[in-house]
Amino acid sequence: MESVKIGEDVFEILLPEEQIRARIKELAARLRLDYAGKTPIFIGILNGSFIFMSDLVKEFGDVCEIDFFKLSSYGDELISSGAVKLLKELNCTVTGRDLIIVEDIVDTGLSIKFIEQLIAEHSPNSTRVISLLLKPDSLKYDAKIDYIGFEIPSRYVIGYGLDYKQQYRNLRSIYVLREEV
Ligand code: 5GP
Repeated sequence: MESVKIGEDVFEILLPEEQIRARIKELAARLRLDYAGKTPIFIGILNGSFIFMSDLVKEFGDVCEIDFFKLSSYGDELISSGAVKLLKELNCTVTGRDLIIVEDIVDTGLSIKFIEQLIAEHSPNSTRVISLLLKPDSLKYDAKIDYIGFEIPSRYVIGYGLDYKQQYRNLRSIYVLREEV
């Protein structure tokens, strides 16, 4: 599927599934080296990160734990409302642990900053952030992203966990909203 038509909007392919899979293998190999001998907790940010998280931990392959935060910031809008709400807390104890925060996409950096502040209160041994996608031109908050899958333009993307009004998360590739010329 090279493009997806939603109403009047056309989404064109940006990152095919093979390219995503290859990059995740590289990221997982890097994490295996960096976390050798440790048992990290992968902490996914719902909903968008669920597919990336699943593929990443399978490729990681070593002993690890997983947990999830659920945040809401965008509602059904295509641009950030600028407010983050915590909808689901962690179920694990993070004190003294090595944490890997897993994001689908970092746009303004607000969500990651919010999570980092929240987690810091619980004194983990270490916290790093991995995001499959980063829109470098949109960053407004000084969020530190340690591992990045792909840098992409500041345009709305869907698929591979990312939604359009809560739908299209189950597309295997990542698509970008076509700009009118
Ligand atoms: P930030 O807090 O960095 O501005 O935004 C992070 C969150 O906004 C992501 O986890 C994701 O839910 C949502 N988001 C940002 N850009 C996009 C996009 O292009 N497409 C979709 N579907 N969600 C996005």
